[in-house]
Amino acid sequence: MVEEVRTPVVPGSVARKPLVAPPRLLMAPGPTNLPPAVLQALIAPLTGHKDPAYLQVMDDLAALLRDVFVTHNAVTLALPGTGGAGMEACLVNLLEPGERVVIGVNGLFGERMVEIARRIGAEVVPVPAEWGQIVEPDAVRRALADGRTKLVALVHGETSTGVHQPVEEIAAIAREYEALLALDAVATLGGIPVLCDQWGVDLCYSGSQKCLSAPPGAAPVTVSARGMEAIRHRRTPVASWYMDLSLHERYWLGERIYHHTAPVLTMYALREACRLVLEEGLEARWARHARLGRALMAGLEALGLQLFAAPPYRLATVAAVRVPEGVDDARVRGLLLDEFGIEIAGGLGPYAGRLWRIGVMGYSASEPNITLVLAALAEALRREGWRADGGAGVAAALAALRE
Ligand SMILES: *Cc1c(COP(=O)(O)O)cnc(C)c1O
Repeated sequence: MVEEVRTPVVPGSVARKPLVAPPRLLMAPGPTNLPPAVLQALIAPLTGHKDPAYLQVMDDLAALLRDVFVTHNAVTLALPGTGGAGMEACLVNLLEPGERVVIGVNGLFGERMVEIARRIGAEVVPVPAEWGQIVEPDAVRRALADGRTKLVALVHGETSTGVHQPVEEIAAIAREYEALLALDAVATLGGIPVLCDQWGVDLCYSGSQKCLSAPPGAAPVTVSARGMEAIRHRRTPVASWYMDLSLHERYWLGERIYHHTAPVLTMYALREACRLVLEEGLEARWARHARLGRALMAGLEALGLQLFAAPPYRLATVAAVRVPEGVDDARVRGLLLDEFGIEIAGGLGPYAGRLWRIGVMGYSASEPNITLVLAALAEALRREGWRADGGAGVAAALAALRE
């Protein structure tokens, strides 16, 4: 017999008190801090999901997202759910059981794609690369050689390793073999160039809470005409009713047929976040992330830390560094959070406890925040007995910023 566990919510208990949300400086690779206009959107009066005013917001958001994805794709919308919902929707719509998919795997998110595609019953061909390295175009070409592949899937910014995957060459190879190309831009959209039309990406998805600096809970997705054609010509219906992109298309762009109760305030916030991206300007925003990413990495190296990703493929939006020998990962991150109110992330999968991952994303990516995280990390390392010269990290970052 299973004993029933009930914790009573008694008067005076913490659960009966008003919510306490501590102020944090969010420097992990998502979520980020929210710009004032985005926070403001979250306290707007709620409307229904079929209110003409909200339908207008959906139209605005779709248009803004087309500019952010640099695409003319008609089917450009935001799904309810986090980045993972975008990944799931991508694979479940583009793949049917038995169809062949080639997936670049050089970190945790590539592995997750493989897992999802296997659950769909697809014939999954992983193209592995070591964590910290890119997926080689030649390896993708070899995997496509038999000519039966429906889809090639890549992670643009591998958040688990800080690797920036070049897309163009693999996109051309996919096109040559008449395969569709899907791109995970969860960690890159709004931070570094994501050029969907120019590269020939057929489906690209992202998440609201990374470089776009909206709260978590929405997954922007854009699908090319070719991608939608493939979805319309499926032999079997999409196994997930909730993630069926044709149904979302009818709610966003077609007859406005009810599909789900939209997370209206989250979409308001995403609308404002995308507006701010375009107000800053895509080019200016990419330049800001590149510059701050370089400065942070220069600072980390000046502290004596070792960056994880191979030099030419370092992702500006996620700095991954090795935890030095003899330093306790959890204690350092705990100290940053408790004493400085700063969140950074640890390693994932086989690198749990062995890496720190610091985000250079959206609203959190600023000169003061970069120098602050370097100073705080140096102090935490000093207390661990590591020979870090705190001043050196900040000085190197400031020198890189002046360059
Ligand atoms: C964060 C992330 C995801 C998953 O997004 P969630 O919002 O956590 O569901 C997928 N892919 C990449 C590359 C990511 O960085």
